[in-house]
Amino acid sequence: MRLLLCTLLLGGLLSACGMDPSLDTPVTINKDRCVGSTCRVCERVCPYDAIHFYGPEDTPILDPDKCTQCGICVRECPYQAITGRPQ
Ligand code: SF4
Ligand code: SF4
Repeated sequence: MRLLLCTLLLGGLLSACGMDPSLDTPVTINKDRCVGSTCRVCERVCPYDAIHFYGPEDTPILDPDKCTQCGICVRECPYQAITGRPQ
């Protein structure tokens, strides 16, 4: 309970300072929000060739070895399916 209260308090303080703590995380693709290969905006905009569609799954795969956390795909995804550290 105490940990939960501290977490909420810290989140509130960061938000009040204009910092969104939810964004200070590695770039991640939310498969539930992604509309799949009919979109492919993230694959096109990534300047580091870090996002591709593979295999039968109709969702993009992010290569953590290539991703620089630049945040372009986070901004450009039309369905807010990608979250993570902004730049
Ligand atoms: S830009 Fe967003 S919705 Fe489009 S394929 Fe990429 S993750 Fe999915
Ligand atoms: S954060 Fe940048 S480098 Fe990483 S996948 Fe998105 S566009 Fe590519």
